[in-house]
Amino acid sequence: MNQTKNKKIVIAIDGHSSCGKSTVAKQLAKQLGYLYLDSGAMYRAVTLYALRNQLANNGTVNEQALVDRLEKIRIEFRWNETTQQNETYLNDENVEEEIRQLPVANHVSPVATIKDVRQAMVRQQQKLGENKGIVMDGRDIGTVVFPQAELKIFMTASPEVRAQRRYDELTAKGQQVRFDEILKNVEDRDRIDSGRKESPLRQADDALILDNSYLNREDQLKWAMEKAKERIEDC
Ligand code: C5P
Repeated sequence: MNQTKNKKIVIAIDGHSSCGKSTVAKQLAKQLGYLYLDSGAMYRAVTLYALRNQLANNGTVNEQALVDRLEKIRIEFRWNETTQQNETYLNDENVEEEIRQLPVANHVSPVATIKDVRQAMVRQQQKLGENKGIVMDGRDIGTVVFPQAELKIFMTASPEVRAQRRYDELTAKGQQVRFDEILKNVEDRDRIDSGRKESPLRQADDALILDNSYLNREDQLKWAMEKAKERIEDC
């Protein structure tokens, strides 16, 4: 590890909704001493702003009104010493919990199709990664945000497996949710994310595929760490 200490790379993790990208990304960042950035949290925070300001409702979004207000939306990540995690702030308010709930999940994909929203988010993401030493997860990290990333991983798992994991996570937090609603949300988001015109979700040509339908967390981390070490050695 000493040899590799100063060689920092960019690790881009893309893939379908709820397939555990953030789990691997956080663990990798921790082991490597890198910054972790959850790009989805940024789209979720914009969505929460839209919902709170009646710019989104019933699955639809008032695109122009949202674009007109983009300058008023300030998103930051602040480190929480207690949880040892970065938390998402929307205009100085901690929204980490609220952006994970179903109303936001149900509106985030339409918000993320808006070109001006994407451009604003991508600019911020690129700035946060300019010194390398970062693991970022999302849908377009290896294709649009960091096309030169030294390591690109494309994660997937079956929709049912992903919905079950999300269901377990939300019910463990005490949220009242239904499995069929979660499954529908997962499938809807896949469809919108992959079919949109602006930066659709797709595997970068040079990405490595990680299908974790039947892999446990330890094995997937081991696999990803090996790939990261190889790339760090190579550069
Ligand atoms: O990763 P997460 O599921 O939290 O992302 C929420 C939504 O934000 C995704 O369903 C997708 O529509 C959008 N997203 C995106 N591009 C990214 C990250 C997330 O379009 N880089």
